[in-house]
Amino acid sequence: MKRIIFVVLAAVGLAVGAAAPSQAAKPAPTATAAYWGHWATQALVYDATGGNNSFKVPEAVSEWSKSGWNVVMTTDATKANITVVAENSTVDGAVGDATLVTSGSIITGCTVHLSPTFTYVNVGEHMAIHELGHCGGLPHSTSTKSVMYPTTNSNTMMTKPSAQDIRWMAGNY
Ligand SMILES: [Zn+2]
Repeated sequence: MKRIIFVVLAAVGLAVGAAAPSQAAKPAPTATAAYWGHWATQALVYDATGGNNSFKVPEAVSEWSKSGWNVVMTTDATKANITVVAENSTVDGAVGDATLVTSGSIITGCTVHLSPTFTYVNVGEHMAIHELGHCGGLPHSTSTKSVMYPTTNSNTMMTKPSAQDIRWMAGNY
């Protein structure tokens, strides 16, 4: 028997100089999906999780970069515009969150919290991919086969975005 671990992957849109991205719209992962915004510059990701490999931040970045989103790792925290930290989510009931900084439809920054409590099995990996997906501009998906579905458990955890998720992100870049 597989242990079912149910986690909630929350997203918080915190906009600077623009209206907060809304979670009310829940588009299916199709070519017509709405996005929270897009990057006009390269996204540089700094992994501040303390080298906790269970989150696999570089692997998550590598996967999303296959979409055409110009996102890479940096070891220089001062140059990063996406920072991933191992801290409890500030959202009640959530194990991870992403806070976006946007100017109009342009995303200029993102901070990701990944709960250090959920580093076992593949939860950490799934969380990192999910929250970085938000950083790239993806809202939640209504498809349970998408890494952007708002919840997951030990039966649905993913170690990489689905091919459809990659195409969805590709539609934003
Ligand atoms: Zn989310």
